[in-house]
Amino acid sequence: LARTIPHAAQAAAARWGDKPALIENGTTVSYNQLWAEARAVASSCLAKGVGPQSRVAIWAPNCREWIVATLGAQICGAAIVPLNTRLKGREAGDILRRAKVSVLFTVKEFLGCDYPALLKDEDTPDLAHTVLMEGDHWQAFLNEGQGAGDDRLDGLLAQVTGETISDIMFTSGTTGAPKGVLSVHGAVVKMFYDWGERVDVREGDRFLIVNPFFHTFGYKAGWVACLVRGATILPMPVFDAAKLADMIEREKVNFIPGAPTIYQMLLIEQEKASRDFSSLRVAVTGAAPVPPSLIYRMKNELGMERVVNGYGMTEHGCVCMTPAEASVDQISASIGTPLPDVEVVCADENGNPLGPDQSGEFWVRGYGVMRGYLDDPEATAETITPDGWLRTGDIGRIDANGYMFITDRMKDMYISGGFNCYPAEIEKLLNDHPGIEVAAVVGMDDERMGEVGKAFVIPRAGVELDPAEVIAWAREAMANYKVPRKVVIVSDLPRNAAGKVLRNALREVAD
Ligand code: ATP
Ligand code: MG
Repeated sequence: LARTIPHAAQAAAARWGDKPALIENGTTVSYNQLWAEARAVASSCLAKGVGPQSRVAIWAPNCREWIVATLGAQICGAAIVPLNTRLKGREAGDILRRAKVSVLFTVKEFLGCDYPALLKDEDTPDLAHTVLMEGDHWQAFLNEGQGAGDDRLDGLLAQVTGETISDIMFTSGTTGAPKGVLSVHGAVVKMFYDWGERVDVREGDRFLIVNPFFHTFGYKAGWVACLVRGATILPMPVFDAAKLADMIEREKVNFIPGAPTIYQMLLIEQEKASRDFSSLRVAVTGAAPVPPSLIYRMKNELGMERVVNGYGMTEHGCVCMTPAEASVDQISASIGTPLPDVEVVCADENGNPLGPDQSGEFWVRGYGVMRGYLDDPEATAETITPDGWLRTGDIGRIDANGYMFITDRMKDMYISGGFNCYPAEIEKLLNDHPGIEVAAVVGMDDERMGEVGKAFVIPRAGVELDPAEVIAWAREAMANYKVPRKVVIVSDLPRNAAGKVLRNALREVAD
């Protein structure tokens, strides 16, 4: 096993040389070419003063350049800082400043965004160079470094170890401000090699990545997993169902990780026109419940041999996945069992492990726990115990077979008349109402009950919803303590750049 991400790319070139590492817009890039480009980037980075301790940000959609920029910076010993492509200038500037980024790799044209133009100089005091990964700019940057400083590069790479910081990724900011997470190379390489085994990534597999590279799911459980397992990376910058369907047929895609809606949309594409999806073998989902009916259709109609569900977070990467032998019901309801060498308990408030099926907080320990939050020893101490347990802040249970089930986040739970209420569960129940498109539930103070639920609901197109009717319907559909006492009809919900509903913002609206 390679000890760092660039060592993995170097080993891949030695082992698979001229085989396809990546296919983009019909162009095939071999492992040798990918590694040569990464070294060219590293040489040019050296010329811009990048070295160990440097931070290099990448703010761009999924593309070949994203990968070689990362590898190049990491060869020099730098940590990369991936930026969400949906951030606005102020948010991105804040991260660049907090992480003391000196070089930014970005693009001028994506979804109508000119990223460099969004940044203000006064927000980014450490930023010395902005490199455009497009056309002539990119070619010039690659040429700048070609051949130069080869000996220095080998020397620098030799100093990069499993304990070197590989990246500082920022959490999605669902429960507060995004926090910078320090990860190390050795943990990333081992975790996503093991991940590849669990989800059955095979040498030569064609792996389509529509999950964004700025998130763990697109970067580590995406192209890094391909590099260590010898699969071919097919980056997709923007999700589009018809294009995805075309790509599956043309490039004979075997593997697609994504949110459940992606597979739903593929099924619709297939109904519109006959499609040849026979190459598809594995689907990996997570972050949202997958109904059993969808899993059956993915198997029967899309021809998936395996559907895998999983759970993780920026602070650890992947924690657990459903194993090969999991039944459809287990894939649908559970997030699976821990990866090898990852220790998980379901703990009470004092950190004592609970028995099977008892509800508590997931605590995770092992090589994969982050090294801490960037410049925030207080938050780090609150999150990692002195014994090395990462407190995930997620509530769930573990059954007698070791399968984990996630219920909700601790910060979102509220207590009504002594009963624990999990907004995610209540939202799922409300979604069965025929007139409700989306529901979001928060707790609000109540003199008599301590707290009660308040639901914000978006009606389905063309439906006139009556709050009193929704409450009456809920009385029939769920336990009394879960029934929201107030229902507010809205046309939109506040979401963060990752698309998750900001319950914090909703709580402030609660009156
Ligand atoms: P922040 O920590 O800034 O509030 P965040 O926790 O949303 O943001 P991420 O690290 O991107 O940032 O997301 C990890 C979280 O996503 C987990 O802690 C968990 O709450 C949720 N999650 C991950 N996988 C699943 C899953 N399969 N089902 C439900 N929730 C999941
Ligand atoms: Mg979190």
